Amino acid sequence: MIHVGLRVDVDTLRGTRIGVPNLIDLLARCHIRASFFFSVGPDNMGRHLWRLIRPAFLVKMLRTGAGRLYGWDILIRGTLCPGPEIGKRCPNQIRDTAVAGHEVGLHAWDHHYWQTRLARLDQHAITEEIQRSYDLMADILGRTPDCFAAPAWRITPEALYALEQFPFRFESDCRGHSLFRPVVDGRRLSHVQVPTTLPTYDELIGLKCTPETYNEYLLKMIRPDRLNVLTIHAEAEGISCLALFQDFLEKARQRDIVFEPLGDILSRTGKIVASGIHKAAVAGRDGWLACQGEISNPSKSMRTS
Ligand SMILES: [Zn+2]
Repeated sequence: MIHVGLRVDVDTLRGTRIGVPNLIDLLARCHIRASFFFSVGPDNMGRHLWRLIRPAFLVKMLRTGAGRLYGWDILIRGTLCPGPEIGKRCPNQIRDTAVAGHEVGLHAWDHHYWQTRLARLDQHAITEEIQRSYDLMADILGRTPDCFAAPAWRITPEALYALEQFPFRFESDCRGHSLFRPVVDGRRLSHVQVPTTLPTYDELIGLKCTPETYNEYLLKMIRPDRLNVLTIHAEAEGISCLALFQDFLEKARQRDIVFEPLGDILSRTGKIVASGIHKAAVAGRDGWLACQGEISNPSKSMRTS
């Protein structure tokens, strides 16, 4: 039996409203529990459109068929007026996810803001951003959220310090290969990281495979001898790629692959190493993201990499 941690990122109003119920239904039929991470503040993801002026991003949008993949309403959301607050519009979808037995954590207040501005924010500003989403999630769930996954795998030392102030069981803020406690600027942090190990749909399509070859390609990347954590998106696998994802789950079942929430992996894992976190580029993804790596000495932290 091969274990795979299944992380569902929910970035937008459309993903919460349509993708989440679709995934809850599908996962219930397959007897799978996963970890859902919600964005609960304004949906400004349409501001991505402004990035079309950057040629590399335009190429990616065309390569992945972004209009079809995410829906054009997502792509223009927040471009003309402030985006709608997702947690206020869709509290039931978030509660239903918890009631269905899934692990429910925090992804973002404003996903787009975090993803584009994080590198320029100080610890105080980041703490405010997290606190807003933390409080709204607590209102919705009737309890405080106990895990966190950084939007777009973007994390900075200031953000890690800010997150330390919240009583999270674990975080999933970066790409990596094993469970670890981050050491940043010589300081060992307390929250364990459960990193994403596998690429996302939009990182592979058009580069390594087509929708027809995608499931086989991804299944081959899942190995019994290592940590496997897959991140899917409510906007993609929950809507436009739902049939493809259903086929993936069926093929995985035939290969004795079982999916579980990230917290279950943490409960089973005895040895947790110490690692650094560094900025890196990942094929198929625009800009930098955070990756598990060597512990660097404080003078060569991720600030300068
Ligand atoms: Zn996200």
